[in-house]
Amino acid sequence: MVMAVLVAPKLLTGFAVRDFKMLINGEWVAALEGGVLERAAPSHGVTVSRYPEGTKADAERAIAAARQSFDAGGWVNKTGAERSNILLKAADLIESRAEELSLLDAIEAGKPISQVRGEIAGAVDIWRYAAALARDLHGESYNTLGDGTLGVVLREAIGVVSMITPWNFPFLIVSQKLPFALAAGCSCVVKPSELTSGSTLVLGEILIEAGIPAGVVNIITGTGADAGALLSTHADVDMVSFTGSTGVGRLIMANAAQGLKKVSLELGGKNPQIVFPDADLDAFIDAAVFGAYFNAGECCNAGSRLILHKDIADDVVSRIAALSKKVKLGDPLDPQTQVGAIISPQHLQKISTYISGASQAGATVVSGGGIVDFGAGHFMELTLLSDVTADMAVAREEVFGPVLSVLTFETAEEAIHIANSIDYGLSASVWSRDFDTCLTVGRKVRAGTIWMNTFMDGAPELPFGGYRQSGQGRELGRHAVEDFTETKTLNMHIGSRKTLWVCD
Ligand code: NAD
Repeated sequence: MVMAVLVAPKLLTGFAVRDFKMLINGEWVAALEGGVLERAAPSHGVTVSRYPEGTKADAERAIAAARQSFDAGGWVNKTGAERSNILLKAADLIESRAEELSLLDAIEAGKPISQVRGEIAGAVDIWRYAAALARDLHGESYNTLGDGTLGVVLREAIGVVSMITPWNFPFLIVSQKLPFALAAGCSCVVKPSELTSGSTLVLGEILIEAGIPAGVVNIITGTGADAGALLSTHADVDMVSFTGSTGVGRLIMANAAQGLKKVSLELGGKNPQIVFPDADLDAFIDAAVFGAYFNAGECCNAGSRLILHKDIADDVVSRIAALSKKVKLGDPLDPQTQVGAIISPQHLQKISTYISGASQAGATVVSGGGIVDFGAGHFMELTLLSDVTADMAVAREEVFGPVLSVLTFETAEEAIHIANSIDYGLSASVWSRDFDTCLTVGRKVRAGTIWMNTFMDGAPELPFGGYRQSGQGRELGRHAVEDFTETKTLNMHIGSRKTLWVCD
């Protein structure tokens, strides 16, 4: 069943394998125990990067460097303007190395190069926004507590922050965390995914060149179990900022609970798109195809659950199937490609299992459903499932692949009930020309972002994060920098004391 325009990957010629080191206390170092991880491009199957296989010993020295740099005060005691200038310089350097960063993420994650170019440009914008917030971080004052009292609430950097990031948006996600923590004055240990560490390590080079003092940003590589585990338990870590799966997020929270650390979690999603008969269906059909298949569906925000009004369901399903045939799938390095590879063979298998499970449970495979064989790499057909019911695993769990499930409703209440009937609550969209409908439904769906007549738009100013098992805390927006601070109350007495507790 043909379901996309196939673009077979060309041979990877002229691409030199990169040997990376980790950044600890301003030095580029190998893993103490000497191990190396090899990353094979998921689109081509050949090794493209090697990173140090960090262990707990490397995490220990990275945390020590971050703690020492924070306690020494070289970064946190700079003025907001000084930190802002360094972040702005970093943004300029990211922009000047955008093509190198795009190529690394495209090849290590199997993402289309044209898409990654957009992600890097978006990241530059975020670094500039965070730079502006560095100058505008402030607390509150209370001059309303009576003649003899002045209250001042300070915002102080929380301290040492560990950051653990996933593979699906390697550079963008570290850019949703790191510049805000730096704007607040924190020192950081970053552990990118073991599958896509390259662009985060290049970011380390950029930050050194921009003037970040040694020890303020440390980047360690390796698996979660070996390099990552200590980042949520070590006594010298004050906060853990994690983006990844709900399962690992739960583990991180449990680990961090031992030391009662602050935890920020950006986790999975199973995002409903609710469509009423009066919606602009031309716009919606395009958004549905984009929302489901963008980044090969390996996207926390994927619009993987369509909740269509019964009156339009058949028409919408056949139009989505027809439009998805025009999507270009294959070589991430071809600028025309819109959908690239699946991150690993194990993940490809997991996606296939969801599709066969849905089919056995009674869903209809309208298009796709199989694996695309280009002779190398791991690619999945763009898959559309109808006759899905709300109790099926494919309707409740995060498939994290190019699989779109269609459910139907008759009343707005039923649509809201289906949308809220699962554990996730990251994002949702509502499509109707009647804004009353959009607002009524949008206000009742429990998710951190509700799009109305659009999908997956964003801006650095707008907070992003999930309800329920999609996470806690928010990234982006003012909240992002404030999340990396503690508040301290200064309660000051002014003038002579009118009353004493013990009188002579
Ligand atoms: P993952 O949870 O498997 O891994 C994420 C990171 O955690 C990796 O760096 C990994 O090495 C590390 N890790 C794993 N076990 C660990 C442990 N015991 N201790 C410390 N670190 C550990 O997730 P993934 O497969 O890389 O990414 C996909 C998931 O991320 C999806 O569920 C997706 O929805 C989610 N995600 C969420 C957002 C969001 O903003 N809400 C954004 C992107 C991805």
